[in-house]
Amino acid sequence: MELKGKVALVTGGARGIGQFISEELARQGAHVVLGGTNAERAGAVAESIVKNGGQATAVKLDVSRASEVQEVFDRIAKEMKPLDILVNNAGITKDGLLVRMKEEDWDQVLAVNLKGAFLCGQQAVKQMMRQKQGAIVNISSVVGATGNFGQANYTASKAGLIGLTKTMAREAAPRNITVNAVAPGFIDTDMTRGMDDKIKEELLQKIPLGYFGTPMDVAHCVVFLASGRARYITGQVIHINGGMLM
Ligand code: NDP
Repeated sequence: MELKGKVALVTGGARGIGQFISEELARQGAHVVLGGTNAERAGAVAESIVKNGGQATAVKLDVSRASEVQEVFDRIAKEMKPLDILVNNAGITKDGLLVRMKEEDWDQVLAVNLKGAFLCGQQAVKQMMRQKQGAIVNISSVVGATGNFGQANYTASKAGLIGLTKTMAREAAPRNITVNAVAPGFIDTDMTRGMDDKIKEELLQKIPLGYFGTPMDVAHCVVFLASGRARYITGQVIHINGGMLM
């Protein structure tokens, strides 16, 4: 229970990787605030965490809307305590080849994946600065480092998150706040389940460990980075990809 007494916000915390991160943070004792655009689903996950002896609160949070972000952070400070841990996990894809990509698909992906992390990160750092401690983990992606066919918008957002992580880490370090990114490879969730079997087979050939990751593989690393055991790690990108990128 190394996170007992800590308040953690996980964006997109009620589904896929985010749900596993929320559950693991709660298992380690944190009071988890789960954000999601689907408030009903977030409510159900929070309820199940509480039933299992943890502390959780569900909030409706579209990270691309500055007013919703502000409301959620105000509520956390008022009803709980200033935030200790932020996990910027919310992410979407709207794939298409560059030459055919619609402007709105570019804008939407950047708004959720990158602007959302900026908006939440800005609010989190303000609260963490006052208590002179905190940990922020941004969920990037292996394709943010390599690029990927059909994902100009997504790869730009995930590469952008790496730059944002390093700048935030530099600016927040004097207040004892760490900021890191994790970059998962291929993880079995709704986001990847719809992929063509042939593409999955080709991807598998590129993974030295020979299998796809699970959301728990990511959750363990995020919880470590959020804990005191990682207090001297900041501005880093931890790759979780079975050796896909070395
Ligand atoms: P899922 O599609 O399973 O889940 C996406 C999550 O993002 C949901 O919880 C969803 O919440 C949330 N979300 C979407 N739009 C918004 C929004 N506007 N505001 C707030 N939350 C939003 O994806 P994964 O679990 O696979 O992905 C989680 C993160 O990991 C993403 O950032 C993704 O890019 C990254 N990642 C995933 C990889 C993989 O292989 N799966 C690989 C590398 C990175 P709701 O349902 O409430 O809308």
